[in-house]
Amino acid sequence: MGALAKQSEVAERADFMATCKHFNGIQNECCKARVRFSALRLGDKVLPCAPVFTRHAGSKPIATCADFREQSEQDYLDDRAETQAVIDRFTKVMPAVRAWRTHPKPAVDRSGVIECPVCKGELSLRQSHYNGHVHGHCATPGCVSWVE
Ligand SMILES: [Zn+2]
Repeated sequence: MGALAKQSEVAERADFMATCKHFNGIQNECCKARVRFSALRLGDKVLPCAPVFTRHAGSKPIATCADFREQSEQDYLDDRAETQAVIDRFTKVMPAVRAWRTHPKPAVDRSGVIECPVCKGELSLRQSHYNGHVHGHCATPGCVSWVE
């Protein structure tokens, strides 16, 4: 079990480092280096941006991109630390959100501002009368913000 977890972490790190640092997902028109995905794909080519594409290229040619930049071990560690920081912020915020939300859902949308449990700034909350979900946005840049 432990060995398997370790193996998947090694694979995850290898995939991360082999993914271009400009890649931001194919839902976007361009990557962070402003290269158009559709231009790279011309002639039925496979995107070079990430192993998830190139691994399954089969007989298709893989496009070349002058702006492709591999990532370092440090980039990987920074990314992991940021992901963990996001999880930590939400772990702190959610009990306050649960306490604020009403059951059953309100008859009309309700909104309010509470003290953000993470940064002590202003956390704006809004609960939908339609499905009871709560959206939140902290006024502090880089703190929490979500749509449920
Ligand atoms: Zn905050």
